[in-house]
Amino acid sequence: MTPVEEMRAAARLLRCDHSFPVQPPLGTLWEPGPCNHCRVPWADAPHDIPERLREPLAVWLEAAGKEFLTADWTDCPTAAAGVGVARTILGGSRG
Ligand SMILES: [Zn+2]
Repeated sequence: MTPVEEMRAAARLLRCDHSFPVQPPLGTLWEPGPCNHCRVPWADAPHDIPERLREPLAVWLEAAGKEFLTADWTDCPTAAAGVGVARTILGGSRG
């Protein structure tokens, strides 16, 4: 993934109204299956990001991605910071 793709993917992950199946064969209560909407594995979903922060963070990531793409640098948001935030969000259990 390019840095811009990472920032857009993180924004999508933040905006998804995740729904994890807990009924076999798709998943269990102890090991939910991947999201019915975006397919992210349970372990990689942004459970620890407060709901009220998700949309503003997604908007900021998209703006940072756009800035990265156009190289039309502005002071805020900074594209470089956006990549770091996106990687942290996408990192999930691997982060
Ligand atoms: Zn989802």
